[in-house]
Amino acid sequence: MRKIVLKFMVLQIPTSPLSVIDTRLMLITYFVLALLPAIEQLFPNAEHMYSIRHIYQNMRIIFKTTEYKEYFWRCATATTIPEFESVMVELKNYDIEAYQWLLKIPPHHWARSHFQIYTNCYFLNELLGRAISDMLLNNLCEVFNSKLVKGRDKPIISCLEFIREYLMKRVYNVMKVLNKCQGPLTPTGTRILEANTTLASKYHAQWNGGQKYQVKGPWNQHVVDMEKRECSCRKLELTGIPCKHAMASLNEMADNNEKVGEPYTYVHKVYWIDTWKEMYSFKVEPIKGRAMWPKSDCPTTLVPPPHNKAIGRPKKKRRITVEETIEIQQRKRQSNNQIQIDNET
Ligand SMILES: [Zn+2]
Repeated sequence: MRKIVLKFMVLQIPTSPLSVIDTRLMLITYFVLALLPAIEQLFPNAEHMYSIRHIYQNMRIIFKTTEYKEYFWRCATATTIPEFESVMVELKNYDIEAYQWLLKIPPHHWARSHFQIYTNCYFLNELLGRAISDMLLNNLCEVFNSKLVKGRDKPIISCLEFIREYLMKRVYNVMKVLNKCQGPLTPTGTRILEANTTLASKYHAQWNGGQKYQVKGPWNQHVVDMEKRECSCRKLELTGIPCKHAMASLNEMADNNEKVGEPYTYVHKVYWIDTWKEMYSFKVEPIKGRAMWPKSDCPTTLVPPPHNKAIGRPKKKRRITVEETIEIQQRKRQSNNQIQIDNET
């Protein structure tokens, strides 16, 4: 249980003195229902998500097939409640038992359509709102976990030294990447904004003469409020990046000779290179070797706890699930195919 509790991630720390201390926290844990009361008690205002990989693993153990994966993934990634409900109905028609099993897990713990958006005003949301995230997996945490594999079986001081040195290198490596970036957005922010700009060309935005636009396209129709920076598809509020509907509205505003400015100015500051540079401006200080450390005045001699060596070689790597093994094999196959195509052309 201790290990599971430690696997949560804090995605954004509150910066405003007006914000309630944990309204801007998002915790992502393994799928363990027993964690619910503990987290509700400790962080009553925080959002608590289950990593959907772990929900799906449980689902696969019970229903012994991968056929539900597509339904489950579509349910989790739908950003509006009607979209979510329509996929749930499809799952119900396909297998009512799987549907009833999934129904028992409250959707606000795993489905984007039920992630909370606290206010309906962009500027209030900036001040009091939720963390800017639509994450469904705890990959971020897994990456750090895998980096600590070599350090975590060391004695506590050496283990902490390992983490400190890793963080020192990490800050430097991120700074190297940031210095190469052209900006003004991070590579992820730039990629998403460019993709949405391309898709926006397939949409037509109709201005209502106020602040709202009705945006119609080949796949759907939504309402964008440019003053509140909201779209009824909810992607804009969830990610902080203008969705294809918002981009179509911006194009329409420009066509109407309104002062629009650069599209990146509508992207949340968490994706700005300047914000990242500020975050990584705090460095981990190098320290001198142990021989140079001051001697402790503590009269007590600290004795290490008795150590019982377990039989066999200790396992360091996380056990990979069947699902992950299939994914790795698929990725290898795709990469081999790509190499083959590249060699042939
Ligand atoms: Zn939208």
